[in-house]
Amino acid sequence: MSASSYLAVALCALAFALALAFRRHRAAQLLAAGTLAVGALSLPDGSGPFAARATEAATMFLPWCWLLALLLPEPPLRSRRMLGFAALLGFAVAMTAFAPAHVWDALQRMLPSGGVSRPWREALALNLLAVAIAAAHWLYRRRPLDAFIALSLLLPAGGWLQLAGLDLRSWLIAGAALLGVGVVHSSWRLAFLDALTGLPNRRALDETLARLSGDYALAMVDVDHFKQFNDKHGHDAGDRVLAAVARSLAQTRAAQAFRFGGEEFCLLFRRPELAKAACEDARVAIEALRVRLPARSAAAKPAAAKAGRSARKSAPRDPPAVQVTASIGVAQRSAARRAPAEVLKAADQCLYKAKDKGRNQVVASA
Ligand code: GH3
Ligand code: MG
Ligand code: MG
Repeated sequence: MSASSYLAVALCALAFALALAFRRHRAAQLLAAGTLAVGALSLPDGSGPFAARATEAATMFLPWCWLLALLLPEPPLRSRRMLGFAALLGFAVAMTAFAPAHVWDALQRMLPSGGVSRPWREALALNLLAVAIAAAHWLYRRRPLDAFIALSLLLPAGGWLQLAGLDLRSWLIAGAALLGVGVVHSSWRLAFLDALTGLPNRRALDETLARLSGDYALAMVDVDHFKQFNDKHGHDAGDRVLAAVARSLAQTRAAQAFRFGGEEFCLLFRRPELAKAACEDARVAIEALRVRLPARSAAAKPAAAKAGRSARKSAPRDPPAVQVTASIGVAQRSAARRAPAEVLKAADQCLYKAKDKGRNQVVASA
């Protein structure tokens, strides 16, 4: 194998290793199959039956492996499904390397993309089906990694057609590289974005503050009596409210919103003179939110119990909407408090004052 072939296989294997390390098991399955195909297609002609059958094997096995990985639920690492998938890849490799000619021919006749006059057409059709399934995953769940998967599977489709004069191997390498980028991107999201609200998280806030220079103001936003809310309506309803509050805060004028933790959020203003008025608007916007409770929220249960009926029977058709308020403390960077931690502490003290004064209000530091 040439140096560039080693490099290509190493690149695909690296993307596979990243997917495994970040527990993106579906991506790892797709990349494992792709890496094996790139390895086989990189072998020089005349280096044994494996090299001679590489294109036929890729045409026959690769689209089926991808389809299987996409159609079955994403498996945990140590699971029967993962073991089964690894066994399937092992079977494909063993067959390609060791199957006698008559067995290989029979296999080609059996598998839809083998043994026909233009096998690449069926492989292309199956490849495009895999793209469509990955795109459907993305439309349904809106996870960016699913979009990367769909695009990275679309690239090898160019390989079956030898688009741009490039062979299947080159398109497979491009697809694996793109999926590797997708895995890194999704892991970045995991590290810096809050899963429930989609806002940047505390770590992102700390990094942003560490890089900041010049004037800025920070606002600490805390949902009022949220423990009571959870107790009354249930944790799912609480999660909905937090997501709605986050969406509302993300609209705050001239501010960047972060989820600080729990029911606390932080707003960063690069133009401190706008902070107080924008926080007042944010408070009003949160008060105006009407969040629909989940259909089987705890709110329906006490009434149902009283009436001696099941909660399901008596649950209202249209679940009620609920309302929350938030208290906000704002502090600006000044000569007396230069470090981000000091500004945050001052904003927190203002928040306590807002709570003491009766909640649902904004208090700014002097
Ligand atoms: P205060 O008005 O003084 O802020 O009272 P509070 O009840 O909001 O404050 P407290 O700190 O006593 O309770 C915060 C609650 O927030 C407790 C916890 O169950 C809830 N909470 C924190 N994170 C989440 C979350 O991700 N989802 C849900 N549903 N609840 C959360
Ligand atoms: Mg709190
Ligand atoms: Mg609170």
